[in-house]
Amino acid sequence: MYVILIDDEKCTGCGNCVEICPNEYLGLDGSVAVIKGDECLGCESCVVDCAAEAITLQEY
Ligand code: SF4
Ligand code: SF4
Repeated sequence: MYVILIDDEKCTGCGNCVEICPNEYLGLDGSVAVIKGDECLGCESCVVDCAAEAITLQEY
């Protein structure tokens, strides 16, 4: 199982992670990315695509 952590201080609200996630796990709440889906697939696409380096992926 995977979970991502979003650093609110770093997130610019660009929406790239929302667009790229294949499982609709991410959304935007105002200008900050938030988790809205049920399952992260652990693909790391959002981590790679976040220019602000605001996303950390953890496996548990
Ligand atoms: S890609 Fe990064 S900076 Fe952009 S909304 Fe997602 S977490 Fe925030
Ligand atoms: S690691 Fe992949 S599945 Fe998980 S939130 Fe990021 S883009 Fe979506």
